[in-house]
Amino acid sequence: MLNIILKPQENMKSFTFLLILTFLLKSLIAQNPADYVMGNTGVINDAKYTEDVLENQYPGFKQAMQNAFENSHQFSTKSGQVHTVNVVVHVVWKENEENIPDSVIYNQMDILNADFGRTNADTVNLRPIFHSVAGNPHIQYNLVHIERVQTNETFGLTFSGLPDKVKRTAEGGSDAWNTEYYMNIWVCKIQNTFGALFGYAYPPAGLSNWPAGSSAPSPELDGVVLDFRTVGDNNPVPYPNPGGGGGNVEFAGRTAVHEVGHYLGLRHIWGDGGGLFGGESCGEDDGMADTPNQGYQSEFDCNTSNNTCIDSIAGQPDPNDLPDLIENHMDYSSETCKNMFTIDQAMHMRGVLENERFGLISGLASIENVELLNFDLFPNPSSDVVTLRMDHQNANVKVFDAYGRLIFSENISKEMHTISCSDWAKGVYYFSIEQDHKMATKMFVKK
Ligand SMILES: [Zn+2]
Repeated sequence: MLNIILKPQENMKSFTFLLILTFLLKSLIAQNPADYVMGNTGVINDAKYTEDVLENQYPGFKQAMQNAFENSHQFSTKSGQVHTVNVVVHVVWKENEENIPDSVIYNQMDILNADFGRTNADTVNLRPIFHSVAGNPHIQYNLVHIERVQTNETFGLTFSGLPDKVKRTAEGGSDAWNTEYYMNIWVCKIQNTFGALFGYAYPPAGLSNWPAGSSAPSPELDGVVLDFRTVGDNNPVPYPNPGGGGGNVEFAGRTAVHEVGHYLGLRHIWGDGGGLFGGESCGEDDGMADTPNQGYQSEFDCNTSNNTCIDSIAGQPDPNDLPDLIENHMDYSSETCKNMFTIDQAMHMRGVLENERFGLISGLASIENVELLNFDLFPNPSSDVVTLRMDHQNANVKVFDAYGRLIFSENISKEMHTISCSDWAKGVYYFSIEQDHKMATKMFVKK
C-alpha cells in the first residue's frame, strides 16, 4: 500500500512552473482532494511534482529530461581531489524561533561535511551487502556567511507555486549571493499547506534538450531551501507531526544532505515512479547503475525488509535480488537510517561540480571579488601598525593567522583605518574584507 501524497518537486524551472502549477493544482484538487491531504506521512515529495506538472503541459518533457540527465552524467575523472564549495546561509525569519542560532547552522555544516566526506559515524550501520557500492563524494562545504533577514512574509507551497520569494529581498526574502560561485541555502518556515515540505532544491541548470516553452532557469533562484526545523541535529524546535497518521518524522540534519544531493544532480533513488500520487513502479530508475531498483519511497522509517523490485547491482548476477537501499540519502527513509551515497552518485555529483556547476569550485569567486572590491595594506610587512585603505566604507574586516584562526574582526566605517599589530606573533596573516556580498583577501606579513 502506498501512501504518498503530493510530492512537489524541488527541481526545475520556476516561472513556468508557477504558472502551470496554478492551473494544475486547481484542477487536481477539484478532481481528487483527498490525495492532497491523505497518506501515512503527510509529506510532500520534493522532486516528483514539478516533473509531472511539466509533462502534463509539455508532453515529452520527461523523456527530454531523462536525455538531458544522461547527457550530464559525466563521471568525475579527478576522484581523489576534494572539491570545496563556498556556502552562504540565509536565515529568513518571522517568529523568534525561526531565527535559528549559529550553533545549529555550524552543526548542519558539520553534518554536510561528514556525509559528503564519508566520515559520518553511522557508516557502520550500512548493511554489508552494500559495502561494495558505498562511495565518497569528497565534497566539502565552507560556510562563508550567514545572512539574517527579519520578514513579515510567510513561505509555503501555494497555488502560485514554490516559495521562491524567500530568495528575493524585495519580496520579503534575502537575495542570493552570486549563485554561480556560491551555494545559497535559505532557511525559513515552510508552511504546511497541502502537506509537509521539508525543503527543495533545483538541479543544475544548463542541461540540454529541454523542450520548447519551458523557460530558462532563473539563476538568482538557484540553491537550497530548508525548513528551519530540519536544520542540524541540535535543533531546539521539533518538527510537528506532518499529519496523515504516520507519526513524527525523525530529523538528523539529513534534509540538507538530501537537498544538496538534488542540487548536485541526484534523483530520488526510487526514480520518482508511480505517477503523480505515487504507487508502486519498478519501471523508473534514478540513472545510477549501482542503486538497486526501487518501486517506491520509504515511508520515513527504517524498514530493512523493504524489497520492492527484483533487481541486482551491476556486476552482481541475478538472482542476487537486493533489498531497497534505505541507507541512501536520496530515499525517504528516516534520517537516522541514512548514511551513504553510492559510488555512482558520488561520481555524478563530482561530475556536476566539474561541469554544470564548475563555478562553485573554480575559485573564480575570489578573483571576481578582488576585482570588484579593492583595498590596500601598508606598510606591509610591518612590525607595529598596519593601515587599511579601502575604496568603500562600512566593510567587515577579519584577520586570520596562517592556521586559519580568527584574530581580528571589526566593522570598519572609514576608508582609512589603522590597526595595531604589535602584539601579533611574527608570521603571515590574511586580511579578508567583506562588503555587499563581495569579499577580497590580501596577505600581510608581521615582522
Ligand atoms: Zn527529494
